[in-house]
Amino acid sequence: MQYISTRGEAPKLGFDDVLLAGLATDGGLYVPESWPQVDAETMRRWRALSYQELAVEVMLPFVEGSIPRADFVELVNRAYSTFQHSAVAPIKQLDTDLYLLELFHGPTLAFKDCALQLLGHLFDYVLERRNERVTIVGATSGDTGSAAIEAIKGRKRADIFILFPEGRVSPVQQRQMTTVQADNVHALAIEGTFDDCQDMVKAMFADAEFRGEVGLSAVNSINWARIMAQIVYYFWAALRLGAPDREIDFCVPTGNFGNVFAGYAAKQMGLPVGQLMVGSNRNDILTRFFENDDMSIQGVEPSLSPSMDIQISSNFERYLFDLLDRSGSATARTMVDFRATGRMNVGQGGWEQAKRDFHAFALSDPKCLDAIRRWREKTGEVLDPHTVIGVEHAAQFGRPGVPAVALATAHPAKFPAAIEQALDQTPALPAHLGDLYERSESFTSLPNQLKEVQQYVRAHRRQS
Ligand SMILES: *Cc1c(COP(=O)(O)O)cnc(C)c1O
Repeated sequence: MQYISTRGEAPKLGFDDVLLAGLATDGGLYVPESWPQVDAETMRRWRALSYQELAVEVMLPFVEGSIPRADFVELVNRAYSTFQHSAVAPIKQLDTDLYLLELFHGPTLAFKDCALQLLGHLFDYVLERRNERVTIVGATSGDTGSAAIEAIKGRKRADIFILFPEGRVSPVQQRQMTTVQADNVHALAIEGTFDDCQDMVKAMFADAEFRGEVGLSAVNSINWARIMAQIVYYFWAALRLGAPDREIDFCVPTGNFGNVFAGYAAKQMGLPVGQLMVGSNRNDILTRFFENDDMSIQGVEPSLSPSMDIQISSNFERYLFDLLDRSGSATARTMVDFRATGRMNVGQGGWEQAKRDFHAFALSDPKCLDAIRRWREKTGEVLDPHTVIGVEHAAQFGRPGVPAVALATAHPAKFPAAIEQALDQTPALPAHLGDLYERSESFTSLPNQLKEVQQYVRAHRRQS
């Protein structure tokens, strides 16, 4: 498989180069040159497979030319061995046509583990063969740092440094990062805000000498391999509920558009996905776009579902590229214009197509709390403040007779403050994290100064 940039100017690359590159040199994102096609007969055979076996079949065309099948089987098995549920992603029925796909049985209790656990092994595999090393640096406001740390811990050829604002992340989130004991993991508490942390990471990437010296890399949500790994669970759930002989709708709480784009990709590959339903909170740029053709940038306001508090959905560009008939120049022009004016213009025809491809919905914080309470009463299920948006979306806009799968993107114990507000009770951590508050923490506090943080990274990354 070859990959092309959404902006049409960067060189075509194979899978391993795309994995390590992240962003393309022309500022675009890498997408497959064409979508592999899966026919109905093949899908029917796939119904008999375990999650891991299905993952190999779905992803193999995307890594073809870079990773031989036997090696890939091993990487996939290792990646999903850290999941606590033997089905990896179990499905629960909530109502006649409403199902919950639990994606939170990985080490950090959120769906990001589904992709990142595999990514860590892919990095090691590719770097080993090239005899290279990388240093991964990232900033987190709490939620995503732990998934990246769990992905890289114990990997031979990658070290990870995660910057978080000291005293400003929740206790669960801090402990998920700081109780990991591994010599290639470094949690850095910065005396500053999340924006300070993010600015510092950007400055490190902009410092070409430093970038080259330490082999700087990232595992952020624009990495193609993350999308690839997320395509698997759309096939998994749909095949269990009657596909390819029946349409299945999906409800996806959405931030950077990565997760729902994976559902769109599954549809392009031949899976009979009906409606792709995009959920947002008060930060509703996507809902405004799909409903009123108004993709205009506004400030980000904190909400009960912080992983969806975004201003611009970075992965939307991958969809935009298809919407503009895969024209790199048109995509580049639209994106540059969007940055300059703060408003995206995809043309009347483009918007009408987008409305056919996605259905959007937004839920305010008070309605989110109310929905958590109602679903608890109705089903006994405690839903986290992201997942409940998709469930509510399905309940209000689902189609009779068509199964709707709501993606459960986090375990409720990951967001205890919101659950307490809704239910007056603290959700219990699952058994494998039950002793989180007894584990000893280790992290380093550093001032909000680029030079010192860079010096720390230089001194603590492994050289061999
Ligand atoms: C990251 C995240 C999301 C948003 O996913 P995107 O791929 O950015 O759209 C939703 N819910 C939870 C719990 C998350 O961690």
